[in-house]
Amino acid sequence: NKIEECNSKKSQSHGGSSGESGSNYLTMVQRTISKQIDMEKVIGKGRYGEVRLGKWRGEKVAVKIFHSTQEKSWMRETEVYKTVLMRHENILGFVAADIKGSGSWTQLLLVTDYHSNGSLFDYLQKNTVGLDRLLFMSLGIAKGVNHLHTEIFGVPGKACIAHRDLTSKNILVKQDMECCIADFGLAVKFDSTTNKFDVPLTDRIGTKRYMAPEILSKMANLNDIDAYKMADIYALGLVLWEMSRRCNFMGEKSLPYEIPFNDLVSSDPSYEEMQHIVCTMKIRPEIPEIWQKNEKMKMMTKIIQEMWHDNPTVRLTALRVKKTMHKLITKTEESLNISNCSEIE
Ligand code: ADP
Ligand code: MG
Ligand code: MG
Repeated sequence: NKIEECNSKKSQSHGGSSGESGSNYLTMVQRTISKQIDMEKVIGKGRYGEVRLGKWRGEKVAVKIFHSTQEKSWMRETEVYKTVLMRHENILGFVAADIKGSGSWTQLLLVTDYHSNGSLFDYLQKNTVGLDRLLFMSLGIAKGVNHLHTEIFGVPGKACIAHRDLTSKNILVKQDMECCIADFGLAVKFDSTTNKFDVPLTDRIGTKRYMAPEILSKMANLNDIDAYKMADIYALGLVLWEMSRRCNFMGEKSLPYEIPFNDLVSSDPSYEEMQHIVCTMKIRPEIPEIWQKNEKMKMMTKIIQEMWHDNPTVRLTALRVKKTMHKLITKTEESLNISNCSEIE
């Protein structure tokens, strides 16, 4: 068994408590990890394989299993999780990457923290959220994406990362309702000191339904990291819309769950379908009238619309979304009413 990396808090603390020298102990844990995991039920299916619940040393973990033909994808996701300073409350916690078996039995494993609420998509099917929870969850998502997008200078520094596949299925809901960003299979890193991306760039990557107009129409400058960040924000606008529909504020009933553009495109839309709706017709999901009845929902609407704006350069940044969400949480409805929710600077 070859192990890629294991920098989890768990194994670090095991190393600490055993009294052994940290790195030796870590290697020991790493070499045995895939043998130590008991695989249980399937908890998710995606593009490259399945995700199973596993038990590792008495703790539940999620194990994403890639077919051996998907080695590149496994490698990419592992590399992104290994990014220095990647760890964050709103980013799925990485435990280990491992190779199990050999020859035609080879499985590539990516082990992460397990979250029983599953994806935001799953969660919104079964649950509605109050206004406070909506804002809290939205803030968490914005914090996670802001952390990804932010380059940190210094030693150690952190590269800027664009996700490129943000959807409600790639965001998970933790037990305490914090959300975390997952599925980094299509992410790119950019280092501004070398001015380089860490993978070769290809056009139109991601989930078509969530693709920004400029990506669909191939108008985006693919050599500009900011273009990818702005496309992330567009997708996030759609996600916040999905969440907002499930919000029951002030006695108003929530709306049934709906995937963006549900009524306008087929279940697995083509580029042409999406381009027609998003670029030519410039259609965005409908904003329910009742959202105008509440100052906070009104502000939420404004944020969403500025996130999925046709012109990528006027979209809010993740930092701005984060700050505005924070303001919405801390201010009362009355004080927002007085300031007439004028500022999304
Ligand atoms: P893919 O790259 O194939 O889309 P994902 O990493 O998005 O794979 O995982 C597929 C699905 O599995 C997710 O949409 C989610 O429902 C579920 N899942 C993934 N990781 C976890 C986890 N750590 N805890 C709980 N569910 C998970
Ligand atoms: Mg996914
Ligand atoms: Mg993926």
